Amino acid sequence: MALPGSGKGTQAVKLAETFNLLHISTGDLFRSELKNETPLGIEAKKYMDKGELVPDEVTIGMLSNKLDEYAGKVEGFIFDGYPRTQLQAEALDKLLDLKKTSISLVLALEVAEDEIVHRILERGKASANPRPDDLDENIIRNRFKIYLKETAQVADHYKKIDKFVALNGVGTIDEIFDALKAEIEKVK
Ligand code: AMP
Repeated sequence: MALPGSGKGTQAVKLAETFNLLHISTGDLFRSELKNETPLGIEAKKYMDKGELVPDEVTIGMLSNKLDEYAGKVEGFIFDGYPRTQLQAEALDKLLDLKKTSISLVLALEVAEDEIVHRILERGKASANPRPDDLDENIIRNRFKIYLKETAQVADHYKKIDKFVALNGVGTIDEIFDALKAEIEKVK
């Protein structure tokens, strides 16, 4: 878990390749639903455009479908951008429990807010097809506010069961990747 713009998406893709995991980004799933103009995508857009969280019941249902689709077909999952609320964390515990599995590790990348605003605005400018929520500083700052209000407490959920590790998210992609990889290797 990490603030938007921390590089978690980039790292999650690399880690999934290295450890043969299925990468599930709830943000990507919502963007794909939106591209296909499904009712779920159209509903999610209302929240994404403001930098707010899509309601828990919608998000949990979407994730549950994805897990069912891949159950037994992959070695494991790497969740990117989920869980973002206490309720989502509890729902994930229940879902994994039903499938007789559990979370191995939660990795957090720490990056200061101003560095992140800069990174996201650059990402928005550099992209040929930018995400609308990356182009407006007010929306970016709102995503942070929500992270602090809703998502930061998810860390406590995993600290209680000793599954939480926070790492410095400032450095080169390779440096951060090596640090994350080392943590996963410890629990393999
Ligand atoms: P991301 O690509 O992870 O930055 O997510 C982009 C947007 O998708 C977020 O600002 C939310 O509106 C929505 N979203 C992604 N993941 C979740 C989640 N776990 N719960 C609620 N909303 C989400």
